[in-house]
Amino acid sequence: MPESGYRGRLAPSPTGLLHLGHARTFATAARRACEQGGTLILRNEDLDPGRCRAEFIDAMLEDLRWLGLDWREGPDCGGPFAPYSQSQRGAFYRDAWRTLRDRGFLYPCSCSRKELSEVATAPNGTDDEPVYPGRCRSRTDASAFQDTTGVNWRFRVPDGENICFNDLRLGRQQFQAGRDFGDFVVWRRDDVPAYQLAVVVDDARMAISEVVRGADLLKSTARQILLFRALSFAIPEFYHCELVRDSNEVRISKRHDALSIRRLRALGYTPHQVFEDSAVNR
Ligand code: GLU
Repeated sequence: MPESGYRGRLAPSPTGLLHLGHARTFATAARRACEQGGTLILRNEDLDPGRCRAEFIDAMLEDLRWLGLDWREGPDCGGPFAPYSQSQRGAFYRDAWRTLRDRGFLYPCSCSRKELSEVATAPNGTDDEPVYPGRCRSRTDASAFQDTTGVNWRFRVPDGENICFNDLRLGRQQFQAGRDFGDFVVWRRDDVPAYQLAVVVDDARMAISEVVRGADLLKSTARQILLFRALSFAIPEFYHCELVRDSNEVRISKRHDALSIRRLRALGYTPHQVFEDSAVNR
């Protein structure tokens, strides 16, 4: 049977054990790919050497298999867009950095973390980075840099512009550049590409047609739309899943060891129960 053009992805970061929230998001991604006769890929987002650990990559692959998720391309099985681990895709990110720099979208920023915490204004949302106050924004020396190192590279957002997109679950979304989010880092001072840049480059280069992710990333999607545009990449569709919360209404994160897939397995839960909303007592 010919495959449809739908391409979806599972994109876990091996910075901890996968938890109930991942299971739910990934089940949605897998269901949507299957319903549309598409291809699901697995991308290992081991971008940050300081936070990712090999043991979590092994655990992640094993947990995903235990859940019964099935991907056609990935770090373990290869595919036409290999490599599927971000740690091996540095050349693609560097290319994109250069394009953005040459097109005038980036500037080098030497503000220290301390300076930023003193002046930056908190964004409207709760769990997002503060809006950059713009101290290095007018720098004109971007082209003097041969390489990325030594500074943070920020994307100059179009202040006041409303970035709109249609979320396939939530409907129309709108965020204002400069108010809801500011100039964001695309390449870090310690010479690691930032999540925003890497994920856009990979989604474009791996021909992802629909991005399924948690609703905590809605505002990041707006940032990423700016990057897709600036790099002249086609923009995929987006579907943001509801976040899973614990019994205190706190969003589940990798700190919730009790709700890791590992632990639920050890307690005797089945994959079906992990996917079902009411089955796991949180
Ligand atoms: N690696 C990211 C995470 O685990 C993926 C986010 C995304 O889907 O873009 O949060």
